[in-house]
Amino acid sequence: MAGHPYTLGLHALGEGTWAYLQPDGGWGWSNAGLVVDGEASLLVDTLFDLKLTGAMLDTMRRAVPAAAAIGTVVNTHANGDHCWGNQLVRDAEIVGSKACAEEMGGLPPALLAALAAAPPEGPAGELIGRMWAPFDFDGIEVVPPTTTFEGELTLRVGDRDVHLIEVGPAHTAGDVIAHVPDAGIVYTGDILFNGGHPIVWAGPVANWVAACDRILALEAVTVVPGHGPLCGPAEVAAQRDYFTHLVDEVTPRARAGMSPRDAARDLDLGPYAALGEPERLVANVAAVYRDLGLDAPTAAADLLAEMAAFATSA
Ligand SMILES: [Zn+2]
Repeated sequence: MAGHPYTLGLHALGEGTWAYLQPDGGWGWSNAGLVVDGEASLLVDTLFDLKLTGAMLDTMRRAVPAAAAIGTVVNTHANGDHCWGNQLVRDAEIVGSKACAEEMGGLPPALLAALAAAPPEGPAGELIGRMWAPFDFDGIEVVPPTTTFEGELTLRVGDRDVHLIEVGPAHTAGDVIAHVPDAGIVYTGDILFNGGHPIVWAGPVANWVAACDRILALEAVTVVPGHGPLCGPAEVAAQRDYFTHLVDEVTPRARAGMSPRDAARDLDLGPYAALGEPERLVANVAAVYRDLGLDAPTAAADLLAEMAAFATSA
């Protein structure tokens, strides 16, 4: 959507579809979506905390009568910035992949609240401050999906279809995209970070490349990324090309015995050098190492430590 403004709030995309955008799209500042037909409504993702999710729901209810009672919620994946507002829509049917539901309980909000309130000294504390300090994790209860699926699932919103396609594991274990065929719109969740580095928590990277190809094959006109401004298929192709470039750059360095952190510092980012959240690069390099069968960090805590060290040494 060339020229569509990247401003906080609800953006009408036409034909009963909306995007809710949260600039600047960095750590935790996620997007959401709304699809309506008649009295029926479907929300794509909640936000990172109760205040942000409550403000979004208020905005939607004021603008769209059918949003007064959200009937269906789709969680694109289990990261808190896409599901930690679920308790505010707990009367809805909440839909996610089976792998998403299994992953959702893995990180307690109270742990993030404690870390954000009293971050450790040094680089890890600096990164944690940037990732979590803007948010309020008090009172969050993790509410997992009530309906799970594997593969594909078509939901009905009034008389229209919303097609869910599981494309993970890639960004996380259970990534799902939501395609609204009659509007030519796809909500990608975090399969697309527009304007920032993506981050591979799960992998393999090949699945993420395949997910981008899957999105492109839908021939949607409008793409709502998980983070960043509204866009179209070109940005999805660019996300795919980022990963193929990364694999091409990292593989020889991995085979030469470099550490993931040294490889992340050494590689040529080419057209991707200006992307935001550059510390994510070292997590993505680690994912390529794992895909090659080489030793590299895999737990979220270890990847955070690696990113913190990379951010201060870059
Ligand atoms: Zn996200």
